[in-house]
Amino acid sequence: MNRLAQRMARAIEMDGPLSIAAFMTMASHDRKDGFYASRESIGAHGAFITAPEISQIFGELLGLWCVQSWRDQGSPTPARLVELGPGRGTLIKDALRAARIAPDFLAGLEVVLMEASPAFEAVQREQLRDAPIAARWVSQWDQIAGDRPLFLLANEFLDALPVRQFVMTEHGWCERMVVVNAASDLAFALAPIPSPLDVPAERGPAEPGAVYEISPAAQGLVEEASRAIAAYGGAALFIDYGHEGSGYGDTLQAVSRHKQAGILDAPGKSDLSAHVDFSALASVASDACARAYGPIGQGAFLRALGIDTRGTNLAEHNPGCADGIGAAIDRLTGKREMGVLFKAFAILPGGAPPPPGF
Ligand code: SAH
Repeated sequence: MNRLAQRMARAIEMDGPLSIAAFMTMASHDRKDGFYASRESIGAHGAFITAPEISQIFGELLGLWCVQSWRDQGSPTPARLVELGPGRGTLIKDALRAARIAPDFLAGLEVVLMEASPAFEAVQREQLRDAPIAARWVSQWDQIAGDRPLFLLANEFLDALPVRQFVMTEHGWCERMVVVNAASDLAFALAPIPSPLDVPAERGPAEPGAVYEISPAAQGLVEEASRAIAAYGGAALFIDYGHEGSGYGDTLQAVSRHKQAGILDAPGKSDLSAHVDFSALASVASDACARAYGPIGQGAFLRALGIDTRGTNLAEHNPGCADGIGAAIDRLTGKREMGVLFKAFAILPGGAPPPPGF
């Protein structure tokens, strides 16, 4: 057992089993030993490679998506651009550079980065040293005022938020918990008393053993963003690995050094994520009086935004890199790569024109 697992075991002995969500929060964000606090997850050879790291075109197109959505809504000033979970800061750096073609957008803009990890925040500050406008950092949503149009970007952010899991038993839905077993290891166990759950009817009947996953954190955040957008205007774009919420299944996974790892094996040493349930988020958005678009495949979305033209252009200016640029575009858009599994999902005010790419 590593140091964080030992602390979890002590917490369980004192306070009782941890929900999967509480386990994920500790494993991801423990100040000393959490995954996002560690240097290991950060460097170019870190545990994950994300779309903005594959090509600068990704962040550029997302920046232009914000500019176009802003124009479509009458160029409201002052506006706020927020990125959730900016990782190494590459996406926002590329987005702001591309947005230089719209000085009117940048002029009144407040840029806010929401980042829970001080280690990642330090990397982002370094990346943005020469950015066209200064950014402000916050560590949680309630530090972002809801008083003006909100343009929001989040890539592979929602999938990092904690989920709760419930398993169908003969008594009903019982929550999956983390306990300490007889061998003193962390182990999964089901809560003995079922939870009253309101499972959407479109999921269909649940067989014994079926797993129902929810992310109250993702739903809470999308609800807040939707309310702000419905009230003040703006547009949110989420890109993530996810599904459209039919059936049941356990999607929680741990990845360590690009390989699948056991969820409980070495907490804090692997990247925990779960598929995003876009149907649940779409209904949260519409309950908050906003309109949801998508999800559509990342490949189709990026192509509609002109990734191929931008790639050709970039290659003409950097002939030595043409092959690399083509390969990066294939990786972002290819059916067997990130083009279909990753999906784009947007939220806009009810009456606004549809966002680019949807
Ligand atoms: N968007 C980036 C990084 C994705 S990794 C990219 O595409 O490369 C997830 C990011 O979200 C990390 O920066 C992590 O520290 C941050 N994060 C995870 N949970 C968070 C939370 N609850 N609040 C704020 N930031 C969080």
